[in-house]
Amino acid sequence: MDNRIFDLSNFDTEDDDIHESCGVLGISNYQDDDLAHIMYFGLYALQHRGQESCGIAINNNGEIIGQKGIGLVPEVFTEKILDRLDGTSAIGHTRYSTTGGSSIENSQPLIFNYKGGRIALAHNGNLVNATKIRYELENKGAIFQTSADTEVIANLISRYGLKYKDLEVILKKTMDVIEGAYALVILTQKKLVGIRDPWGLRPLCLGKLGNSYVLASENCAFDAIGADFIRDVEPGEIIFIEDDSLKSIKTSYNKAHKSCIFEHIYFARPDSIIDGASIYRSRLEAGRLLAIEYPVEADLVVGVPDSGITAAIGYSRESGIPYGEALIKNRYVGRTFIQPIQKLRERSVGIKLNALREEIKGKRIIIIDDSIVRGTTSYRIVQMLKDAGAKEVHMRISSPPVLNPCYFGIDISSKENLIAANYSIEEIRESINADSLAFLSVESLLKTPIGAPVNSFCTGCFTGEYPLSVPFTSNSPENKKC
Ligand code: SF4
Repeated sequence: MDNRIFDLSNFDTEDDDIHESCGVLGISNYQDDDLAHIMYFGLYALQHRGQESCGIAINNNGEIIGQKGIGLVPEVFTEKILDRLDGTSAIGHTRYSTTGGSSIENSQPLIFNYKGGRIALAHNGNLVNATKIRYELENKGAIFQTSADTEVIANLISRYGLKYKDLEVILKKTMDVIEGAYALVILTQKKLVGIRDPWGLRPLCLGKLGNSYVLASENCAFDAIGADFIRDVEPGEIIFIEDDSLKSIKTSYNKAHKSCIFEHIYFARPDSIIDGASIYRSRLEAGRLLAIEYPVEADLVVGVPDSGITAAIGYSRESGIPYGEALIKNRYVGRTFIQPIQKLRERSVGIKLNALREEIKGKRIIIIDDSIVRGTTSYRIVQMLKDAGAKEVHMRISSPPVLNPCYFGIDISSKENLIAANYSIEEIRESINADSLAFLSVESLLKTPIGAPVNSFCTGCFTGEYPLSVPFTSNSPENKKC
């Protein structure tokens, strides 16, 4: 008889992943005639940060035009489209949004005209006070075309542009008002601008490609286009780039550095370095510390592809238990995967992942994943391993239990959907049918980004301690993140 505390077998798994944030990219003063193609490669490298829509805005002698669409970078940007996009400076965006927010209107960059000229804007993050500002602006007659909080920023720039001429003043005034997470790239008719929010919640880094400066969410985009990494943009910093000169403004908004620790656990690519810490090394270290905190006798350590693999290697190295490739991922299941009808639903994880029976049969398996959100995927993976003949399945998670929503641009949903916010670890273990279950502690997690400043991370979704106050309404559906 199935006596699990609650039944996870009939839930679909499509919403179980924590979804990515967005990716931004900017290149200035590029003198060859293939800027759009360079942007294409850079955005391709940031595709993991958002797969719903993407776009490029390009400046050709003061004329800013844009192209954006729903879909992946190679779906939106054909050779023909790229050939049409000429210019010397550009910004681009890959977007993930919450349900209902994936319309073309909400895709970025946003391009608008204000008193100071034409401007394009791309944003990664989420403003916690966007709903309030929007309400106030609408009461003053502002109109909005999108439901994205990025348009609130555009509107503020336009409003301050009525009173001030200097872009630096306009942007500082805008930063006075907006609260939350933002990594922004802004293209004007003369300049490329990068801004990181006062806590550095979302990543933004600076690189150089010949005489061009480059801004990107992650430095893996620099590697893709042959640019060199210079440094991370600091929290609260505004960078102005005009021709081949760069001006950095350290605003007084700079707060205690609190970047998102989930970038290290899951979102960022392992070949990126954020705020001085290698993502790959952070994940290895998480696995190593997990093996110290929660050892178990077993025959094989296996990682859930892709983001559990590096932590599994770390666990294996520390424990001495061999690492094995026992789950094979179908690399062609992506954004367009259609959720099967109810009777085929159980097959959905099987389509994305399959177990290697030869590796698993008769063995005690330690399976490592990066996180558990609703628990549905974990249940199916444990089941898959047991069906393939595993004698025991011990699940280890390379992050602490997710207990709270994220208000800063990551799609970690409301508390009622978070299994760890509603059930004990023992209840979760029973429900996913694992022989044992353990999560990395918060103390150990904070040690994993080796090289990053100590105490410089937001851990809000694990601890409930956010770096700034989070009004309840900020995560409401009408306040679309990016
Ligand atoms: S709440 Fe969690 S996901 Fe959101 S910024 Fe903080 S650490 Fe990252």
